[in-house]
Amino acid sequence: MKIGILGLGLIGGSLGLDLRSQGHYVFGVSRRKSTCTKAVANGCADEASVDLNLLASAEVVFICTPIGLIIPTVRQLIAHLPSNVIITDVGSVKLPIVQAVSSMWDNFVGGHPMAGTADSGIEAARRNLFVARPYVLTPTDATQKAAITIVEEIVRQLGATVYHCPPEDHDRAVSWISHLPVMVSACLIAACMGETDAQVLQLAQKLASSGFRDTSRVGGGNPQLGVMMAQYNRQALLESLQKYRHNLDELIGWIERENWSALEEKLRATQQARSAFVDE
Ligand code: NAP
Repeated sequence: MKIGILGLGLIGGSLGLDLRSQGHYVFGVSRRKSTCTKAVANGCADEASVDLNLLASAEVVFICTPIGLIIPTVRQLIAHLPSNVIITDVGSVKLPIVQAVSSMWDNFVGGHPMAGTADSGIEAARRNLFVARPYVLTPTDATQKAAITIVEEIVRQLGATVYHCPPEDHDRAVSWISHLPVMVSACLIAACMGETDAQVLQLAQKLASSGFRDTSRVGGGNPQLGVMMAQYNRQALLESLQKYRHNLDELIGWIERENWSALEEKLRATQQARSAFVDE
């Protein structure tokens, strides 16, 4: 198929690499000319330009810009596209995007690959980023069935596991497992940096190993992405943060009162519960 990618960064560039290896012809459009040149040189696109017109002959277009630019970018893009072109996006928040874009374009299917790294930009693009990762599609009752089938087929070719859910449910679920962890992990790093004894802080930095690497990874990621998660999924994220604060307060209380049995019971329950979320 002829596939367009708008926004050649970590996700857009990685999509381009894999779609080209599946035999698709990839048109890339990005904001900077230098990014377009790199995208072609790195194998992320067959052709790339800063001009939206390049996407006029694509059959499916993936919108991979930062979240806040998805809606305005689609508004600009649709003036260049025939009405049968399928548009999908990769934004980490779905409800506001699905509501706005569906009202502008009939052939729109919201999507979100649950894959990423701490890096951003075209240099961060890598092959097989989506293999064995969940990829959520958020069609509504009004979404064209044929468009869903085509996007789903392309996503399967990336090696991803496809899930479908309403955009509202997506936003609440990712608030728990993606957006809350970013904020918690950021607070962990910030709290450690609050150590006032420079020698102790330095020692902690030297001793940090796999446990700190795992728990700090998402808090050390792209700051703009974190802000946009909070801005566009504000309500769900606030609810998750409040429940998290409740858990933290409970835990502080037990430690203050030396209630080790309550603490152990909690840690036993979380040890068991974790495997329902991740399998390692
Ligand atoms: P990114 O690496 O920063 O890539 C976004 C790219 O969009 C930039 O490299 C930039 O390219 C381009 N861009 C910016 N403004 C543009 C415009 N007006 N028109 C065209 N291109 C423009 O970010 P990302 O991590 O790939 O995230 C992109 C999307 O994927 C976001 O919506 C995010 O929610 C979603 N997502 C991210 C992750 C993750 O973990 N990172 C995971 C799943 C989904 P130039 O170099 O040309 O400026």
